[in-house]
Amino acid sequence: MKVTKVEALHFRLPVVREIADGTQDCLLVQVHTDAGITGLGEVVSCSYVARAVIEAPRSAPFRHGLAAIVEGMFAEEIELATQEMIDGSIWYGPGGVVRQAMSGIDMALWDIRGKILGQPVRNLLSQTAVNQVPCYASVLWPDQPEEITASAETFLEQGYQAVKYGWGPMGPDPALDESLVASAREALGTEIDLMVDAGRVWDVETAYSRVEQLKKYDLYWLEEPLNPYDIKGYRELSANSSIPIASGEALTLKKDFKQLIIQSKVPIVQPDLGRVGGFSAGQKIDLLAQETGSRAVPHAFGTGVLLAASTQWAAARQKPLTEFTRAPSPLAQELVLHDITFKDGMLTLPDTPGLGVTLNNHIAEKYRVS
Ligand SMILES: [Mg+2]
Repeated sequence: MKVTKVEALHFRLPVVREIADGTQDCLLVQVHTDAGITGLGEVVSCSYVARAVIEAPRSAPFRHGLAAIVEGMFAEEIELATQEMIDGSIWYGPGGVVRQAMSGIDMALWDIRGKILGQPVRNLLSQTAVNQVPCYASVLWPDQPEEITASAETFLEQGYQAVKYGWGPMGPDPALDESLVASAREALGTEIDLMVDAGRVWDVETAYSRVEQLKKYDLYWLEEPLNPYDIKGYRELSANSSIPIASGEALTLKKDFKQLIIQSKVPIVQPDLGRVGGFSAGQKIDLLAQETGSRAVPHAFGTGVLLAASTQWAAARQKPLTEFTRAPSPLAQELVLHDITFKDGMLTLPDTPGLGVTLNNHIAEKYRVS
């Protein structure tokens, strides 16, 4: 079955606000084959740059986008496609946006593999994959602590067992930071797991002082307190923090994860399947995590494609958990149709072959960037 076309599908809200919400635009990849089977994947990146990495036409050897490399290849040969993409993009790769763009293609090829074999992707990743995955609600901090109660109460009513707040005003003011966390804990009560995403705002000394300040709120983890590449800082913090440290969503290459996992020993590692190279690379990162007992929990703040991919991937882990973005953007909530259901803090996956996702054409047409 040959790949006939690799199509970048680019979407953006008409008004993009200056907030840390990555669901205001997105880049999906649709891979078409000569058998009529198609696959969907998601790229988590700067969408305009990643789109060029996929679409750029050939002008000379190594001067072309990823679509030109993969079109004409056999869709079943994912490993070969990965290698060809790495080799063919050597002048402008291998990490960063190239790896992010590769991720969408890899994901779409796994979607196709599942459809060919009549199996949901999780069953191809592990023989012991489960059908239900615990998830945590994930939103940004509001500007003021008193605004937290409304969202927290909604999460409680909906049955969430774990909630993460992040970014927004967190960082420069220790009093405000504590007030945010205290308000979240008070609103959620003591039975709910509470994660905090600092949004890479501190150096190691400041992060450690925040850990001391926030430890009484019983946080499930503290995410990205430092620059994502501060390996030494993460090592120091992971060794001394009484709150488990989580990081990894910004990394793209396996060698970077190796440093974060093996050298820094972060207890929670968060590969984003839309950045690391899709399922193929995600499997390898989880193997690294198993070496140190680090827990791999996917970062997933995108559309329903990334949600489906991350949940399928998490379902094949030893201790499944996934992020479930509650960002209000129609690209996050409506662009993709799927049969994943939520109840009492758990996502239940359908047995649909592949990823079980299709585009919601009405929303796709409304927000498509030509
Ligand atoms: Mg994060």
